[in-house]
Amino acid sequence: APTIVWLRDDLRLTDNPALTAAADRGPVVLVYLLDDDSPEVRPMGAASRWWLHGSLRSLSTATGDQLVLRRGAAETVIPQLVADTGAAAVFWNRRYGAAREIDARLKSSLRESGLEAQSFQANLLFEPWTVRTGEGNPFRVFTPFWRAAREAAVRAPLPVPHVDWAIADGDDLESWALLPTHLDWTAGLHESWNPGEEGAHAQLESFVTERLADYHRRDEPAVEATSRLSPHLSFGEISPFQIWERMHGDLPAAATKNVAKFLSEVGWREFNANILFHSPELAEKNYRPAFDAFPWAEPDPRDLKAWQQGRTGIPIVDAGMRELRHTGYMHNRVRMIVASLLIKNMLIDWRVGEKWFWDCLVDADEASNPGNWQWVAGSGADAAPYFRIFNPMLQADKFDGQQKYIKRWVPEFGTAEYPESIVDLAASRREALAAYEHVKAGQ
Ligand code: FAD
Repeated sequence: APTIVWLRDDLRLTDNPALTAAADRGPVVLVYLLDDDSPEVRPMGAASRWWLHGSLRSLSTATGDQLVLRRGAAETVIPQLVADTGAAAVFWNRRYGAAREIDARLKSSLRESGLEAQSFQANLLFEPWTVRTGEGNPFRVFTPFWRAAREAAVRAPLPVPHVDWAIADGDDLESWALLPTHLDWTAGLHESWNPGEEGAHAQLESFVTERLADYHRRDEPAVEATSRLSPHLSFGEISPFQIWERMHGDLPAAATKNVAKFLSEVGWREFNANILFHSPELAEKNYRPAFDAFPWAEPDPRDLKAWQQGRTGIPIVDAGMRELRHTGYMHNRVRMIVASLLIKNMLIDWRVGEKWFWDCLVDADEASNPGNWQWVAGSGADAAPYFRIFNPMLQADKFDGQQKYIKRWVPEFGTAEYPESIVDLAASRREALAAYEHVKAGQ
């Protein structure tokens, strides 16, 4: 009898423990479910759907079209697939957000029906329940978290297994309509990315040979210095174990000085997953409840739209928001600046910005997106203090001194066409600090 391997955020054939274990036992049915029905699953945004389409296409090709696509709630569809295929076991790699409740329920119900159900560690270097403070609690601060986590050994990645594919009926990818049907806004995404496992490994190699040596300049948005692995990691086209191993292998001499810093950024991904594991409502709730008292402004629809479309009149912010809309990505430093403007100068609830990013980012991640928004807001774990308010003009001077990034995305900057700023930076800063008193009172 075949084993079903249920893929989720692990769209790869190499270093895929569930797949390797299943292939060792006999024939494999490889399935991806589009689950927009279970309340525990956060529906993907538009840019992520574009990515998913490309990633599934690439994975399907790599298997010789053996990937089975099904749609619906997992707790309905997986038992149906078991019945259709006569499978004796269902294997998957673990996920760490609210949807793990589905996995737990499914695991017990499959076992009750006499099937084998097994989950594997694939997408995090360190399982959240294994990293604990001396008192046995989860960490709330990054540095001690990362120091403690790294004490555990990191396993070597697995090679691609030989798989005897078993077939099952499935949907045609096109029928899922993951791509926009009218008004195609995805040209910039196509220019910028190559979804799929092959694209992920090409990205890692180009990073190692061309950009890692400049990683100490990662805060300068005009410099190509970062890995751009985030969407590949979010969709699991490459595993952190593969990245870890590559960083401990042969590297250009000029690059080795930046390895620890780069891996600590990968550590922030682990940290956010850890926070999500312990606080599954990270996208809805302030991690620090004192922030529930914050008097957020009712967003003015015109101002919000100006922010979303990159027409705020603040050049670094507009550049970032346009990069986001065009490419589905934004440079990390600029993400912090645009988020800070929304939260601390426009006084808009971080959840409003988080949702926009969720829809627009190709790397939209259930842990890292709300985790970082809350970090900027000051409501998160190990967050930037609320009262430390970025001045976007000074940030631009510091990190884009020659305005290369700004001019790339905002060509009309400096002309009469470019709008006036929608916020008074000094006055709004004072208002934000006054509003913050409500939080302080509750701490
Ligand atoms: P690199 O610098 O090359 O880093 C390597 C990897 O480390 C990244 O691919 C990513 O997986 C991880 N990483 C780096 N920085 C962070 C961080 N601060 N938090 C968590 N992981 C990190 N990252 C996402 O992956 N998904 C998101 O939805 C997301 N939303 C964000 C929202 C805001 C408001 C901010 C300020 C940051 C957000 N980030 C998010 C973190 C960060 O901006 C991106 O991970 C990074 O820009 C991706 O580019 P890179 O792969 O070239 O990064």
